[in-house]
Amino acid sequence: MSTTRTPPADETRCPCGRGDTFGACCGPVLRQERRAATAEALMRSRYTAFAVGDVEHLLRSWHPRERPDRDELADSLEDGTRWVHLSILTTSAGGPFDDAGTVEFTAVARTPQGRQEQHEISRFVREDGTWLFVDGEL
Ligand SMILES: [Zn+2]
Repeated sequence: MSTTRTPPADETRCPCGRGDTFGACCGPVLRQERRAATAEALMRSRYTAFAVGDVEHLLRSWHPRERPDRDELADSLEDGTRWVHLSILTTSAGGPFDDAGTVEFTAVARTPQGRQEQHEISRFVREDGTWLFVDGEL
């Protein structure tokens, strides 16, 4: 199944809600023009990828050991969920000089079943200078 959706325009507000435009925030990370410098930046880019249906960025930024099946992931992005809000609560490590880090967040979605809030602590590792999502604890 193809889930290619039109990405947001660079001058529009980035879905991750940091307050920047897409072109100055998650856009270049999704387009592989620059790497996420921190675990939080990668987490934001993954939230944005969920919001805009960017399967390739999600797969790329997932640790190979934990990476889901492409078709299953693509299908899960087509279930009618619309991610509408992200709040980063806390971060630990995950900076340019760390090899691991965690990001605690809540994400709000509108689903066909109603409003859904996800509270998660995500774990990230940095390998060869690239941050990767490992797993999350709900
Ligand atoms: Zn962003």
